[in-house]
Amino acid sequence: MTPQRIAIAETIWKYGHIDIDRLYSVIREKFPTISLATLYKNINSFLEKRFIQEVPIPNHKTKYELILKNHGHFICTECGEVRDIEIDENVLKMSIQDSVPNMDRVSLSVHGVCCGK
Ligand SMILES: [Zn+2]
Ligand SMILES: [Zn+2]
Repeated sequence: MTPQRIAIAETIWKYGHIDIDRLYSVIREKFPTISLATLYKNINSFLEKRFIQEVPIPNHKTKYELILKNHGHFICTECGEVRDIEIDENVLKMSIQDSVPNMDRVSLSVHGVCCGK
């Protein structure tokens, strides 16, 4: 791990969910010479290693987050805000076990409008 990679991972962890623009501006404060291409290269390698995952948000830039545990997302269709939703994996497994015998990863999105600003 290079210092840049550590900083990228730390920033994603700190923000919870972060898009490439915000991530780039935070990383550039520490590493002013880093290029967007280098950042994408690191992101792609994190994705390949399944260290982070993408959270697609309609009409907004995809956000990235560390893969810590299976959870769902509430995604605001107005402002693109993302909140984690806890999933009871046992309940989920029981309700889908006939159609999905080998659950590996959960990607569940609930869409709506967040009330607070
Ligand atoms: Zn919102
Ligand atoms: Zn999340």
